[in-house]
Amino acid sequence: MTWSKRIFRFSHTLLGQQRLAIMLVCTIVLCISLGSSMIYEYISFTHDSRTRLGALADIIAAEVSAALVFGDNTAIEKSLQSLNADPSITYLIVLNDQGKVAAQYVRQDLPQKPSDIEQRLAQIRKRINTSIHKFSLEVSRPIIHDGEQLGIILLELDSSLFLKKLLVSFGIGIVILLFSMVGSYLLSRRLGQIVTYPLLSLTNIMEEVTSTKDYRLRAEVSDITELARLAEGFNEMLVEISNRDDALLERQERLHRQANYDTLTGLPNRTLFNDRLAQALRRAERTKETLAVLFIDLDDFKLINDAHGHRVGDLLLEEVSRRLNKDTRADDTLARLGGDEFTIFLQGVKSAENALQVARKLLNALLNVFLLDDKQMYVSASFGIALFPDHGNSAEVLLKSADAAMYVAKQKGKNYIELFTHALYYKASERLSLQGDLHRALENGEFVLHYQPRVNLQNGDMSGVEALVRWQHPERGLVSPLTFIPLAEETGLIMELGEWVLKEACRQMQHWHRKGILVPRVSVNVSPLQFRRQNIVELVKSTLTSTGLSVRSLELEITESALMDDINQAIETLKQLQQLGVHISIDDFGTGYSSLSHLRSLPVNTLKVDRSFVMNAHISDEDAQILEAIFAMAHSLNLEIVVEGIECEEQHNLLRMKTSCEVQGYYYARPMPAADLEVLLFEQTMTVAPRNPDPGVFPIL
Ligand code: C2E
Ligand code: MG
Ligand code: MG
Repeated sequence: MTWSKRIFRFSHTLLGQQRLAIMLVCTIVLCISLGSSMIYEYISFTHDSRTRLGALADIIAAEVSAALVFGDNTAIEKSLQSLNADPSITYLIVLNDQGKVAAQYVRQDLPQKPSDIEQRLAQIRKRINTSIHKFSLEVSRPIIHDGEQLGIILLELDSSLFLKKLLVSFGIGIVILLFSMVGSYLLSRRLGQIVTYPLLSLTNIMEEVTSTKDYRLRAEVSDITELARLAEGFNEMLVEISNRDDALLERQERLHRQANYDTLTGLPNRTLFNDRLAQALRRAERTKETLAVLFIDLDDFKLINDAHGHRVGDLLLEEVSRRLNKDTRADDTLARLGGDEFTIFLQGVKSAENALQVARKLLNALLNVFLLDDKQMYVSASFGIALFPDHGNSAEVLLKSADAAMYVAKQKGKNYIELFTHALYYKASERLSLQGDLHRALENGEFVLHYQPRVNLQNGDMSGVEALVRWQHPERGLVSPLTFIPLAEETGLIMELGEWVLKEACRQMQHWHRKGILVPRVSVNVSPLQFRRQNIVELVKSTLTSTGLSVRSLELEITESALMDDINQAIETLKQLQQLGVHISIDDFGTGYSSLSHLRSLPVNTLKVDRSFVMNAHISDEDAQILEAIFAMAHSLNLEIVVEGIECEEQHNLLRMKTSCEVQGYYYARPMPAADLEVLLFEQTMTVAPRNPDPGVFPIL
C-alpha cells in the first residue's frame, strides 16, 4: 500500500482523526502563543529601547549644547566617543540649527560613508513626519540651551541584536512546538488506548464474528461507561443472535432428523436408507462386491397392537429395532420403513447363504420372549432377501424384490425367510397387475355377489344369507376374495367396493322380497378399513332409504380385529348401528385377541365362530372342548352364535345337539349366484312342503 493510501486510511479511522485533532489543536495553540509572545517581545523591546534612547539623547543633548553654542564640533565629537561603550547604538547625528551635521557618531564596525549619513538623514526626516516613527528604533531630540533650540540629535539603535534574540526565542518556541507535537502524539496514543482500543477491539470482534460466524465470541467490556454500554449492548446482541442461531440449528437438526430418521425408533427412515443404499451400490459396482437387502415384516403385529394397545405396540417396535441393531454390523444400515416394516442392507456379502445366515440370526433374536409393560409376548417375522447385482441394480428395484420375497414368506405361513427368485418376481408383478385391474373392475361391472345360506339348526330353516363378493376377471376368470380383498384394502379401493357390495346386497334382497321370495336376512361383510374410515352409519341409512329395504333384513359382519383397533370408537359406531336396528355379528371370532371384558362392552348380537374351531372338533376332544367353551361364553354374554365352515356330517352332528345355534358351510350349501339361490328356494318350497320335520338337515341340500 502506498504512503498516500495509508495516510488516507489512517485519517479515516477514529484513531487517526483523534490523533490529528489533538496534534492540530496543540500546534495551533502553540503557534498562537509563540506568535503572541514574539509580538509582545517586539513591542516591549521597541518601547523600552525608545525610552532608553530618549533618555540617552536627552543626556547627550545636555552635554553637547554648550559646545554647540560655541560651534566646537570637536568637543561634541569627543563627548560622542563615550557611546563606544554601548554597542547597541549604531549611530548618532548632531544637527545644528541650520540642519547641518555638526557632529556624528557611527559605530566603529559600520562603514563610514558620508553619503550614507545623508541618505539616512533624509530617511529619518521622512519617518519623523510619519507614524512609522513611533515604531522605529530611531529617536530625535532637540538641543535646547537657555530656552533656545540649537539643533537636533538623531540616535539609532541596532535592531539586529534584538532580532537575534527574537530568533533564539523563536527557535526555542519551535523546539517547544516540536516537543509538544511529539507529546500530543504520545498523549493521543494513550487516549487511543483508553478510548479507541475498546472500540477497535469491538470492531475486531465484530469482524471476527462476521467471518467465523462464531456467535459465542464476546467483546471486552471497558471501564468507560459509554464504551462499556456499547460493548454490553453488542454482547447482548451476540447472545441474542447466538440463541437464535442455536434455536435455528436445533430446528434444522430436528428437521433433518424428521426428514431422515424415524421418530419412534431413531433408525434411518426410507429416504435416508435409499440414499445410503444408492451410495453403497455405487461402491459395490466399482469393487464388484455383492450386497444384500433384507426386508423384514413382523408377523401379526396388528393383532398385538389391537389387543394390547398402541403403547405396547410402540414398545415392541422399539425393542425389535434394538435387537435388530445389536446384530447389525457398523457398515450395514438398518432402517424402519414405517409400521412394522424394517429393512437392512448388508455390504460385502460373499454368497446368498451368507445373507440367509444373517437373516436367521436376526430372526432368532426376534423369537426370544419380549417383556413389555409387564407382559410377556412372542413375535415372529417374515424376511425377504434380494441380492445385488443378481436381483436388481438400483435401490428401488432391490427393495421391491426383497419386499416381494417377504410377501411370499408371509404366504408360506410367516416366521419364514425367503430369497428372491425371478419366478417370484413374476408373481409379484402379477399381483401388481391385478391391483391395476382392480381399479377398472368396478367401473366395468366385473364384480358380482354370491350368496351362501345360513341355517337354523333348530328348525332347519334358512335364517339368512351371507353376501360374498366375486370378481369375474375378463382373462383370469373368477378371482377369490382372499386374493383381491387384501389388494383392495392396500389401495383403499375397498371403500368403493364395500359401498357397492352393501348397495347390491340390499337391492337384491328388496328385489327378492318384492318377488315374494322371503330371505330373512342378508349379512354383509364390512372391511376393517371401511369400518374405521367410512361413515358406515350414514352409508347404511342412505342405502336402506334408496333401496327401501327394512333394517331388520340387514346384518353387518365385522371382524374382531377391526373392532379392537379403536375399541371406544367401535363401541360408539356399533351403538349407532344398533339404534338403527341393524343386526351385528363379530366375524371370524376366535382369530383375534379380544378379551372378555371387551366383548362384554361391545354392542353386538352374534358371534360368528371361525371355521378353524370346527374343522377338527369332530375328531379332536380338545377342539370340541374349546368349541364348547365358546358356546358357554356366548351364552353367558347373551349372544347368538353362528358356526362357519361346516363341511361334513360329523361336524353337523356335533352341532345339531346345540340349541339356538346357526350354521353355515359347504355341507349345507356353497356360495352361489342370486339366480341359483332363487331356483333352490323355489324348488324347496315346491318339493319340501310341509317343512322337513328333521331339523338336522337343511331342506335345500
Ligand atoms: P368370511 O366373511 O369369513 O366368509 C366366509 C368364507 O368362508 C367364504 O369365502 C366362504 O365361501 C367360505 N366358506 C363357507 N363355507 C365353507 C366351508 O364349509 N368350508 C370352507 N373351506 N370355506 C367355507 P370366500 O367367499 O372366499 O370369502 C373369503 C373372505 O373374503 C370372507 O370370509 C371375507 O372375509 C372376505 N369377503 C368376501 N366377500 C366380501 C365382501 O363383500 N366384503 C368384504 N369386506 N370382505 C369379503
Ligand atoms: Mg363373513
Ligand atoms: Mg368368517
